[in-house]
Amino acid sequence: MATKHDPRAIKVLHVSPEAVPFCKVGGLADVAGSLPPSLRNSGADCRLLLPAWDGVLDTARKNGLKLVRVPRSVDVAIRWKVHKGTLWMSSGEGLPVYFLESPFFEGKQIYPQQLDPESVLPFVFLSLAALELADAAEWYADVMHCHDWGTAPLISALLWHRYYRFMFSQYKTVFTIHNLAHQGLLPLHSLRDWGLVDDAFTLNGLEFYGGANLMKGAITGASAVTTVSPAYSREIQTENGGVGLGGLLRSHNSKIHGILNGLDTEYWNPATDSLLFHNYSPDDLAGKAQCRNTLFDQLGWKEDGRPLFTSVGRMVDQKGFDILLPSIQRMVEWGCRLYLVGSGQHEYETAVLEAVDKWPDAVASFVGYDEEVAHKAYAAGDFFLMPSKFEPCGLSQLISLRYGALPVVRSVGGLADTVFEYGSPEGNGFLFSEYSAESLLSAVGRSLDVFRNDATGYRSAQKKAMQSDFSWDRSAPLYLDLYRSLLP
Ligand code: ADP
Repeated sequence: MATKHDPRAIKVLHVSPEAVPFCKVGGLADVAGSLPPSLRNSGADCRLLLPAWDGVLDTARKNGLKLVRVPRSVDVAIRWKVHKGTLWMSSGEGLPVYFLESPFFEGKQIYPQQLDPESVLPFVFLSLAALELADAAEWYADVMHCHDWGTAPLISALLWHRYYRFMFSQYKTVFTIHNLAHQGLLPLHSLRDWGLVDDAFTLNGLEFYGGANLMKGAITGASAVTTVSPAYSREIQTENGGVGLGGLLRSHNSKIHGILNGLDTEYWNPATDSLLFHNYSPDDLAGKAQCRNTLFDQLGWKEDGRPLFTSVGRMVDQKGFDILLPSIQRMVEWGCRLYLVGSGQHEYETAVLEAVDKWPDAVASFVGYDEEVAHKAYAAGDFFLMPSKFEPCGLSQLISLRYGALPVVRSVGGLADTVFEYGSPEGNGFLFSEYSAESLLSAVGRSLDVFRNDATGYRSAQKKAMQSDFSWDRSAPLYLDLYRSLLP
């Protein structure tokens, strides 16, 4: 097998707007921060290109990375003007990361509230700068691996940019869809000054119902398209799940692959996690009970044996808040406690806070984004609620399994691929299908029944959940096989 130091090793540049531990909005950051190192450990010469948003370079240095400035800048023409970017490369062992510094990334909060001709420019710059990286850094990738709409312009540029299309044969491209709900929709005319040729503005190009759709270009042009779970790869090819791109995806069916996300199991490890009040393992769960007790002390709750249902995630439509909120009253009446961590749509945040006011002894919340709070919530919970409307993969349920909180989830996308009904051979949680509060409550009811009447069964499912393999060891080889299949 070729190793990363071997000139024959496959060279892959991952391009992502976010990656842990440098900057994070959601699950993409977890994947972009953990898949490339895992691929590197498997022998690929994998590297990562990341924008230096505010604070990113400082965070990198605080994490012990030594950053070396690449002598040559990357020059990208947008709107008939050349924009210079500076590349900083991490040196030493571990994953080489290129940080791209530019005024485009200053004062921004990664994804714009509103995507428009101006706010998309950092993503266009990132995408085109990736194609300039080879000459600047003197490192030539075989495969460009792009993640979500923010890096989709890279693939469109290889097809339709008046300059970069001459590089088409130089690269194989992989486009990973982490969430089809965000496709990068813009007015068509706003792409006029990106340097694209006329073909880009047709139905076979980026045109989409009179506007432009960045993901459409990437799906059309990529050598391979992946999604983050097998179930989601099937769902997005249907009329309902395709969010307007189902037909296009079906027509590219042969190049679509569903590869389940992995977790960074060193980082997400209750036995060593320094953010927890106490550590614990499947063989010694005493620390988990202490995590719960200490959280209760902080929340001003007395331990009285009621089960704790936690949730950590964006408080948005996708995550099922419109069926979770109407279920709270019944859950409280049934003797559940809830601890809801997250932020998102204003109406959901407000409704959560109202529930806390109404049932202070049973409902608590943390409205905001906080890594430490999230870790403590995963560890304290007996059950984890994730009633998603759709879920490309979902990392939160994987984390909850690893931390011994049995997931109560809707059977959709990656949730259906990773959570199995209690009582079945792989049983590690509770599932429901229909998108309704009633259906969610029926799964909650089953979970309560087990918790109260079958302590041995609960413990054994908990142990099984914590011992499952969610590492990239399972999925990284599938990506390697895919890269190999694309190269001669
Ligand atoms: P998505 O990417 O759709 O937001 P995922 O389940 O794939 O959902 O990943 C969410 C990631 O973000 C998990 O690592 C989760 O712990 C983290 N996360 C979500 N909300 C918060 C929050 N409010 N505070 C801390 N971490 C959060």
